[in-house]
Amino acid sequence: MAMKERLTKADEAKPWYGELPVESLYTAGIAGEKFFRSIQEKGVFLGSKCHKCNMVYVPPKIYCEQDFEKLEDYVEVADCGSLESFTCVHIGLDGKRLLEPMIVGLINLDGASTSIVHMLGETTVEELCMGMRVCAVFKPKNKREGAITDILYFKPTKQ
Ligand SMILES: [Zn+2]
Repeated sequence: MAMKERLTKADEAKPWYGELPVESLYTAGIAGEKFFRSIQEKGVFLGSKCHKCNMVYVPPKIYCEQDFEKLEDYVEVADCGSLESFTCVHIGLDGKRLLEPMIVGLINLDGASTSIVHMLGETTVEELCMGMRVCAVFKPKNKREGAITDILYFKPTKQ
């Protein structure tokens, strides 16, 4: 019995391929599908807009968190925004130490009321500061698969 429990736990452990620790933060479902399809096909971020309070949720939500309005209107937001916060991640989702630490940022895309969490690339922690401009770098269109990994990372841009 103890053996079986251990095996079950081993099956549940997710392997870490050095990609993304944030997959689980994105909501699936209809809104998530629209979000990822838009990135896959057009390289465009979609948000859902509340007409009652004007919040624009990115990634899109189905209901407004402020007033519980049903959100059915999707708007395009920019693929660039400001870096609100960032941190260096040394441990993967499986609890194991990453070979190379990863920088993860909280990014407020232009036109969005909420922020998304994603990896930062082509930079170092020393180069980053809060409020700096960052832009999304997507996979080449023919390599995209409608998943969060279609966004490779965000990189700082010169203003
Ligand atoms: Zn609202």
